[in-house]
Amino acid sequence: MSEIKNITVIGGGTMGNGIAHVFAQNGFDVKLVETKQEFADRAMNTIDKNLSRMVSKEKISEAEKQATLERIQPVLSVSDGVKSADLVIEAVPENYDLKKKIFKEVDEHAPANAILASNTSSISITKLAAVTSRPGKFIGMHFFNPVPVMKLVEVINGLETDSAVTDSIMEISKKLGKEPVPANDFPGFVSNRVLMPMINEAIFCVHEGVAEPEHVDEVMKLGMAHPMGPLRLADFIGLDVCLDILNVLYDGFKDPKYRPCPLLVKMVDAGKLGDKTGEGFFKR
Ligand code: NAD
Repeated sequence: MSEIKNITVIGGGTMGNGIAHVFAQNGFDVKLVETKQEFADRAMNTIDKNLSRMVSKEKISEAEKQATLERIQPVLSVSDGVKSADLVIEAVPENYDLKKKIFKEVDEHAPANAILASNTSSISITKLAAVTSRPGKFIGMHFFNPVPVMKLVEVINGLETDSAVTDSIMEISKKLGKEPVPANDFPGFVSNRVLMPMINEAIFCVHEGVAEPEHVDEVMKLGMAHPMGPLRLADFIGLDVCLDILNVLYDGFKDPKYRPCPLLVKMVDAGKLGDKTGEGFFKR
Protein backbone atom coordinates (compact mmCIF):
# COMPACT_ATOMS: atom_id res chain seq x y z
CA MET A 1 0.00 0.00 0.00
CA SER A 2 1.23 3.52 -0.70
CA GLU A 3 2.16 5.67 2.27
CA ILE A 4 -0.66 7.54 4.01
CA LYS A 5 0.13 11.23 4.35
CA ASN A 6 -2.99 13.28 3.67
CA ILE A 7 -5.95 12.72 5.94
CA THR A 8 -9.47 14.04 5.46
CA VAL A 9 -11.86 13.97 8.41
CA ILE A 10 -15.53 14.54 7.60
CA GLY A 11 -17.48 16.06 10.50
CA GLY A 12 -15.81 18.19 13.19
CA GLY A 13 -18.06 17.34 16.16
CA THR A 14 -17.16 15.47 19.36
CA MET A 15 -15.25 12.71 17.54
CA GLY A 16 -14.16 14.43 14.32
CA ASN A 17 -12.31 17.29 15.99
CA GLY A 18 -10.51 14.79 18.23
CA ILE A 19 -9.55 12.62 15.25
CA ALA A 20 -8.24 15.67 13.33
CA HIS A 21 -6.33 16.74 16.48
CA VAL A 22 -4.47 13.42 16.95
CA PHE A 23 -3.53 13.06 13.27
CA ALA A 24 -2.23 16.65 13.09
CA GLN A 25 -0.36 16.31 16.38
CA ASN A 26 1.41 13.29 14.91
CA GLY A 27 2.58 15.16 11.81
CA PHE A 28 -0.16 14.38 9.26
CA ASP A 29 -1.74 17.04 7.07
CA VAL A 30 -5.46 17.11 7.80
CA LYS A 31 -8.43 18.55 5.96
CA LEU A 32 -11.44 18.88 8.25
CA VAL A 33 -14.75 19.01 6.37
CA GLU A 34 -17.75 20.71 7.96
CA THR A 35 -21.04 22.00 6.58
CA LYS A 36 -20.80 25.63 7.75
CA GLN A 37 -18.05 28.07 8.68
CA GLU A 38 -19.41 28.41 12.23
CA PHE A 39 -19.14 24.62 12.77
CA ALA A 40 -15.62 24.59 11.33
CA ASP A 41 -14.70 27.48 13.68
CA ARG A 42 -16.23 25.64 16.63
CA ALA A 43 -14.17 22.53 15.80
CA MET A 44 -10.94 24.54 15.48
CA ASN A 45 -11.66 26.36 18.78
CA THR A 46 -12.18 23.04 20.54
CA ILE A 47 -8.90 21.68 19.16
CA ASP A 48 -7.13 24.92 20.18
CA LYS A 49 -8.56 24.64 23.72
CA ASN A 50 -7.61 20.95 24.05
CA LEU A 51 -4.07 21.64 22.80
CA SER A 52 -3.75 24.58 25.24
CA ARG A 53 -4.69 22.23 28.08
CA MET A 54 -1.85 19.92 26.95
CA VAL A 55 0.55 22.89 26.90
CA SER A 56 -0.44 23.91 30.44
CA LYS A 57 0.14 20.31 31.61
CA GLU A 58 3.55 20.49 29.86
CA LYS A 59 2.70 17.51 27.63
CA ILE A 60 3.49 19.54 24.48
CA SER A 61 5.21 22.89 23.83
CA GLU A 62 3.51 26.05 22.57
CA ALA A 63 5.42 25.58 19.27
CA GLU A 64 4.03 22.04 18.90
CA LYS A 65 0.54 23.37 19.53
CA GLN A 66 0.93 26.00 16.79
CA ALA A 67 2.42 23.49 14.34
CA THR A 68 -0.49 21.10 15.03
CA LEU A 69 -3.08 23.81 14.36
CA GLU A 70 -1.31 24.82 11.15
CA ARG A 71 -1.53 21.26 9.83
CA ILE A 72 -5.37 21.34 9.98
CA GLN A 73 -7.20 23.02 7.15
CA PRO A 74 -10.96 23.46 7.52
CA VAL A 75 -12.91 22.90 4.28
CA LEU A 76 -16.61 23.39 3.56
CA SER A 77 -17.11 20.89 0.75
CA VAL A 78 -16.70 17.11 0.66
CA SER A 79 -15.57 17.07 -2.98
CA ASP A 80 -12.78 19.64 -2.33
CA GLY A 81 -11.87 18.06 0.98
CA VAL A 82 -11.19 14.56 -0.34
CA LYS A 83 -9.58 15.20 -3.73
CA SER A 84 -6.00 14.62 -2.54
CA ALA A 85 -6.75 12.32 0.41
CA ASP A 86 -4.91 9.06 1.11
CA LEU A 87 -7.30 8.25 3.97
CA VAL A 88 -10.81 9.65 4.56
CA ILE A 89 -12.39 9.19 7.99
CA GLU A 90 -16.08 9.94 8.30
CA ALA A 91 -17.40 11.15 11.68
CA VAL A 92 -20.82 12.64 10.89
CA PRO A 93 -23.90 11.82 13.03
CA GLU A 94 -25.00 8.19 13.38
CA ASN A 95 -27.52 8.14 10.55
CA TYR A 96 -27.24 5.56 7.75
CA ASP A 97 -28.85 7.73 5.04
CA LEU A 98 -26.52 10.66 5.80
CA LYS A 99 -23.42 8.43 5.81
CA LYS A 100 -24.56 6.74 2.58
CA LYS A 101 -24.92 10.11 0.84
CA ILE A 102 -21.50 11.24 2.06
CA PHE A 103 -19.70 8.04 1.07
CA LYS A 104 -21.18 8.17 -2.43
CA GLU A 105 -19.77 11.68 -2.82
CA VAL A 106 -16.44 10.73 -1.24
CA ASP A 107 -16.13 7.70 -3.52
CA GLU A 108 -16.72 9.89 -6.57
CA HIS A 109 -14.10 12.53 -5.69
CA ALA A 110 -11.36 10.79 -3.66
CA PRO A 111 -8.34 9.30 -5.48
CA ALA A 112 -8.95 5.68 -6.56
CA ASN A 113 -6.38 4.32 -4.12
CA ALA A 114 -7.65 6.26 -1.07
CA ILE A 115 -8.85 4.22 1.91
CA LEU A 116 -12.31 5.13 3.21
CA ALA A 117 -13.05 4.66 6.91
CA SER A 118 -16.07 5.23 9.11
CA ASN A 119 -16.02 6.01 12.84
CA THR A 120 -19.56 4.60 13.19
CA SER A 121 -20.41 3.02 16.56
CA SER A 122 -23.03 0.65 15.27
CA ILE A 123 -23.80 0.84 11.54
CA SER A 124 -22.62 -2.15 9.48
CA ILE A 125 -19.25 -1.47 7.81
CA THR A 126 -20.14 -3.99 5.09
CA LYS A 127 -23.37 -2.12 4.33
CA LEU A 128 -21.58 1.26 4.16
CA ALA A 129 -18.80 -0.25 2.01
CA ALA A 130 -21.43 -1.49 -0.45
CA VAL A 131 -22.48 2.06 -1.38
CA THR A 132 -18.96 2.68 -2.73
CA SER A 133 -17.14 1.25 -5.74
CA ARG A 134 -14.25 0.12 -3.47
CA PRO A 135 -15.51 -2.18 -0.67
CA GLY A 136 -12.00 -3.69 -0.46
CA LYS A 137 -10.66 -0.28 0.58
CA PHE A 138 -13.39 0.37 3.14
CA ILE A 139 -12.90 -0.19 6.89
CA GLY A 140 -14.17 0.84 10.32
CA MET A 141 -11.90 3.00 12.46
CA HIS A 142 -13.76 3.23 15.76
CA PHE A 143 -12.14 5.82 18.04
CA PHE A 144 -13.26 6.46 21.62
CA ASN A 145 -14.20 9.67 23.38
CA PRO A 146 -12.18 11.77 24.24
CA VAL A 147 -10.08 10.84 21.20
CA PRO A 148 -6.82 12.56 22.26
CA VAL A 149 -6.92 10.60 25.56
CA MET A 150 -8.38 7.17 24.82
CA LYS A 151 -5.87 4.60 23.53
CA LEU A 152 -8.20 2.18 21.74
CA VAL A 153 -9.00 2.13 18.04
CA GLU A 154 -11.32 -0.77 17.20
CA VAL A 155 -10.45 -1.64 13.59
CA ILE A 156 -13.48 -3.21 11.92
CA ASN A 157 -13.12 -5.39 8.85
CA GLY A 158 -16.10 -5.41 6.53
CA LEU A 159 -16.89 -8.56 4.58
CA GLU A 160 -14.69 -7.44 1.68
CA THR A 161 -11.98 -5.36 3.40
CA ASP A 162 -8.55 -6.24 1.91
CA SER A 163 -6.08 -7.52 4.49
CA ALA A 164 -3.49 -4.99 3.23
CA VAL A 165 -5.94 -2.19 4.12
CA THR A 166 -6.39 -3.63 7.62
CA ASP A 167 -2.61 -3.80 8.03
CA SER A 168 -2.14 -0.21 6.96
CA ILE A 169 -4.90 1.05 9.31
CA MET A 170 -3.41 -0.94 12.22
CA GLU A 171 -0.02 0.60 11.42
CA ILE A 172 -1.24 4.19 11.10
CA SER A 173 -3.19 3.86 14.38
CA LYS A 174 0.06 2.90 16.11
CA LYS A 175 1.73 5.99 14.60
CA LEU A 176 -0.93 8.02 16.45
CA GLY A 177 0.17 6.40 19.73
CA LYS A 178 -3.04 4.35 19.80
CA GLU A 179 -3.55 0.65 20.41
CA PRO A 180 -5.55 -0.77 17.49
CA VAL A 181 -7.53 -3.95 18.03
CA PRO A 182 -9.03 -5.80 15.04
CA ALA A 183 -12.59 -7.10 14.95
CA ASN A 184 -15.01 -8.34 12.31
CA ASP A 185 -18.19 -6.63 11.28
CA PHE A 186 -21.06 -7.83 13.48
CA PRO A 187 -23.63 -5.62 15.24
CA GLY A 188 -21.97 -3.58 18.00
CA PHE A 189 -18.51 -4.94 17.04
CA VAL A 190 -16.81 -5.99 20.32
CA SER A 191 -17.00 -2.75 22.30
CA ASN A 192 -20.73 -2.08 22.24
CA ARG A 193 -21.73 -5.74 22.14
CA VAL A 194 -20.11 -6.20 25.54
CA LEU A 195 -20.67 -2.74 27.03
CA MET A 196 -24.31 -2.08 26.15
CA PRO A 197 -25.78 -5.29 27.64
CA MET A 198 -23.86 -4.47 30.85
CA ILE A 199 -25.31 -0.94 30.92
CA ASN A 200 -28.77 -2.35 30.11
CA GLU A 201 -28.51 -4.88 32.96
CA ALA A 202 -27.43 -2.09 35.34
CA ILE A 203 -30.58 -0.18 34.30
CA PHE A 204 -32.69 -3.33 34.89
CA CYS A 205 -31.23 -3.44 38.44
CA VAL A 206 -32.62 0.07 39.05
CA HIS A 207 -35.89 -0.73 37.22
CA GLU A 208 -36.52 -3.85 39.33
CA GLY A 209 -35.52 -2.18 42.61
CA VAL A 210 -32.38 -4.27 43.13
CA ALA A 211 -30.37 -1.16 44.04
CA GLU A 212 -30.23 2.63 43.69
CA PRO A 213 -28.14 3.97 40.74
CA GLU A 214 -25.25 5.09 42.99
CA HIS A 215 -25.15 1.64 44.62
CA VAL A 216 -25.12 -0.19 41.27
CA ASP A 217 -22.16 1.96 40.24
CA GLU A 218 -20.36 1.49 43.57
CA VAL A 219 -20.57 -2.30 43.23
CA MET A 220 -19.01 -2.22 39.78
CA LYS A 221 -16.31 0.29 40.78
CA LEU A 222 -15.31 -1.27 44.10
CA GLY A 223 -15.87 -4.93 43.23
CA MET A 224 -14.88 -5.08 39.57
CA ALA A 225 -12.31 -2.25 39.46
CA HIS A 226 -14.27 -0.30 36.83
CA PRO A 227 -13.01 3.31 36.87
CA MET A 228 -16.55 4.55 36.21
CA GLY A 229 -19.84 2.80 37.05
CA PRO A 230 -22.07 1.68 34.15
CA LEU A 231 -24.83 4.21 34.89
CA ARG A 232 -22.41 7.14 35.16
CA LEU A 233 -20.92 5.96 31.86
CA ALA A 234 -24.40 5.71 30.29
CA ASP A 235 -25.07 9.34 31.29
CA PHE A 236 -21.73 10.35 29.73
CA ILE A 237 -22.40 8.47 26.47
CA GLY A 238 -26.02 9.72 26.28
CA LEU A 239 -29.04 7.57 27.10
CA ASP A 240 -30.46 8.11 23.61
CA VAL A 241 -27.21 6.80 22.09
CA CYS A 242 -27.31 3.76 24.42
CA LEU A 243 -30.91 3.06 23.40
CA ASP A 244 -30.09 3.38 19.69
CA ILE A 245 -27.17 0.95 20.01
CA LEU A 246 -29.23 -1.56 22.01
CA ASN A 247 -31.85 -1.43 19.27
CA VAL A 248 -29.12 -2.10 16.67
CA LEU A 249 -28.07 -5.19 18.68
CA TYR A 250 -31.69 -6.28 19.21
CA ASP A 251 -32.63 -5.88 15.53
CA GLY A 252 -29.29 -7.17 14.23
CA PHE A 253 -29.25 -10.43 16.18
CA LYS A 254 -33.04 -10.85 16.58
CA ASP A 255 -32.22 -12.03 20.10
CA PRO A 256 -34.37 -10.92 23.08
CA LYS A 257 -31.30 -10.79 25.32
CA TYR A 258 -30.63 -7.32 23.87
CA ARG A 259 -34.15 -5.99 24.67
CA PRO A 260 -33.71 -2.40 25.95
CA CYS A 261 -34.87 -1.97 29.54
CA PRO A 262 -38.28 -0.20 29.68
CA LEU A 263 -36.80 2.32 32.16
CA LEU A 264 -34.20 3.34 29.56
CA VAL A 265 -36.93 3.84 26.95
CA LYS A 266 -38.97 5.89 29.43
CA MET A 267 -36.03 8.12 30.37
CA VAL A 268 -35.25 8.83 26.72
CA ASP A 269 -38.96 9.61 26.09
CA ALA A 270 -38.84 12.04 29.03
CA GLY A 271 -35.82 13.82 27.54
CA LYS A 272 -33.53 12.72 30.39
CA LEU A 273 -30.61 11.88 28.15
CA GLY A 274 -27.73 12.15 30.64
CA ASP A 275 -24.99 14.79 30.81
CA LYS A 276 -26.08 16.55 27.61
CA THR A 277 -29.48 17.46 29.12
CA GLY A 278 -28.18 17.87 32.69
CA GLU A 279 -29.99 14.80 34.01
CA GLY A 280 -29.93 11.05 33.47
CA PHE A 281 -29.36 8.53 36.24
CA PHE A 282 -27.45 11.33 37.97
CA LYS A 283 -27.74 15.13 37.91
CA ARG A 284 -24.85 16.98 36.31
P1 NAD B 1 -21.47 15.10 16.60
O1 NAD B 1 -22.92 15.33 16.41
O2 NAD B 1 -20.78 15.63 17.82
O3 NAD B 1 -20.65 15.62 15.33
C1 NAD B 1 -21.04 15.39 14.00
C2 NAD B 1 -20.52 16.55 13.16
O4 NAD B 1 -20.76 16.24 11.78
C3 NAD B 1 -21.21 17.89 13.44
O5 NAD B 1 -20.22 18.86 13.76
C4 NAD B 1 -21.92 18.22 12.12
O6 NAD B 1 -21.95 19.61 11.82
C5 NAD B 1 -21.08 17.44 11.12
N1 NAD B 1 -21.79 17.13 9.87
C6 NAD B 1 -23.10 16.79 9.71
N2 NAD B 1 -23.35 16.59 8.40
C7 NAD B 1 -22.19 16.79 7.72
C8 NAD B 1 -21.82 16.77 6.36
N3 NAD B 1 -22.70 16.47 5.42
N4 NAD B 1 -20.53 17.07 6.03
C9 NAD B 1 -19.63 17.38 6.99
N5 NAD B 1 -19.93 17.44 8.31
C10 NAD B 1 -21.19 17.14 8.67
O7 NAD B 1 -21.30 13.48 16.53
P2 NAD B 1 -20.15 12.58 17.19
O8 NAD B 1 -20.53 12.26 18.61
O9 NAD B 1 -18.83 13.20 16.88
O10 NAD B 1 -20.34 11.22 16.38
C11 NAD B 1 -19.85 11.08 15.06
C12 NAD B 1 -19.75 9.59 14.73
O11 NAD B 1 -18.86 8.96 15.65
C13 NAD B 1 -21.08 8.84 14.83
O12 NAD B 1 -21.13 7.86 13.83
C14 NAD B 1 -21.00 8.19 16.21
O13 NAD B 1 -21.76 7.00 16.31
C15 NAD B 1 -19.52 7.86 16.29
N6 NAD B 1 -18.96 7.72 17.64
C16 NAD B 1 -19.30 8.60 18.63
C17 NAD B 1 -18.73 8.46 19.89
C18 NAD B 1 -19.03 9.42 20.99
O14 NAD B 1 -18.73 9.09 22.16
N7 NAD B 1 -19.60 10.60 20.73
C19 NAD B 1 -17.79 7.43 20.13
C20 NAD B 1 -17.42 6.58 19.08
C21 NAD B 1 -18.01 6.72 17.84
